[in-house]
Amino acid sequence: MRILILGFCAFCLWGCGSKGGDSGVKVEKSTAVFDWKMVTTWPKNFPGLGTAPEDFANMVRQMSGGRLNIKVFGAGQLLPPFEVFDAVSQGTAEMGHGAAYYWAGKARGAEFFATVPFGLNAQEMSSWIHHGGGLQLWREMYQPFGLRPFAAGNTGVQMAGWYNREINSMADIVGLKMRIPGLGAEVLSRAGALAVNMPAGEIYTAMQTGVIDATEWVGPYNDLALGLHQVAEYYYYPGWHEPGVVAELIVNVKSFDSLSPDLQVIVEVAARAINQNMLDEYTAKNNQALKELVKAHGVKVRRLPESVLLELRNIANKVISEQANQTELTRRVAASLEKFKSEVMAYHSISEEAFYKARRAD
Ligand code: CA
Repeated sequence: MRILILGFCAFCLWGCGSKGGDSGVKVEKSTAVFDWKMVTTWPKNFPGLGTAPEDFANMVRQMSGGRLNIKVFGAGQLLPPFEVFDAVSQGTAEMGHGAAYYWAGKARGAEFFATVPFGLNAQEMSSWIHHGGGLQLWREMYQPFGLRPFAAGNTGVQMAGWYNREINSMADIVGLKMRIPGLGAEVLSRAGALAVNMPAGEIYTAMQTGVIDATEWVGPYNDLALGLHQVAEYYYYPGWHEPGVVAELIVNVKSFDSLSPDLQVIVEVAARAINQNMLDEYTAKNNQALKELVKAHGVKVRRLPESVLLELRNIANKVISEQANQTELTRRVAASLEKFKSEVMAYHSISEEAFYKARRAD
């Protein structure tokens, strides 16, 4: 019964979303069975990021009645985490789960589909992608690589990261060796830090051995799981560099095209489901984890000074406009994002922001 209901919902969503008003069209159901591999950039079953692909695979198997079976591989199980994009592009695996900013060296401007410093939050990113033209641009960017992207998770606003010294001014950032990906890394580099990227599985050891002396990862729920409180004293907020990171699902286009229309819709709907569910999970778990970090582990939570945030925002604006000017496509992506941001901020200033302020006790 559950499968029937899910299947019916999937059909409705597809009908309404793609054609509008043709919900009477019959979808041909193929009996072909597909056994696929999904490679991920996350440690196997890592909370949220790693469990979402497993949830996705389970949903797809149930909705398809066992016609599309996806085996999920954690980072390093089948291939190194940062080889996911190439592996799915080449068809070594049919699917991948990661984040677009890991592939900026391959698809120029891919960072814009993960997160932008001082940019959109989770709700706004999802809105831009699904109702603001973002998804069409994202597909255009990945098309030369034979990949079809889907939004498939979001962390919400992250934390600014873990440090072993207090950050009181921009001078405290100079010389920091920090793990940070994406456009945030470029911002910190220009502020005088040495920014490096590395996958989740390497961060703890890199901090412990002094390869890096600061790191960001996600937020309390995930950072507690990595044990970062054991290797750093200060936990800074807000995550100016990653205000709502989109986790992405990538599917090899040839593989996707080989699926019957109903299986394609199942993939699309399951991606939408984990896109929301990951954010729900973080919203529920971050607060508990933060309490544990502070009460049980003595972590010192600090806010970045206003002057530092202001300077980082000035640098970020320059970095974003330079990254936007790489190609004709990156110009269109950045322009679309910027237009969406200014429009959504205008309304959110009198809705979300005004409400947050109104409900505070102080
Ligand atoms: Ca992060």
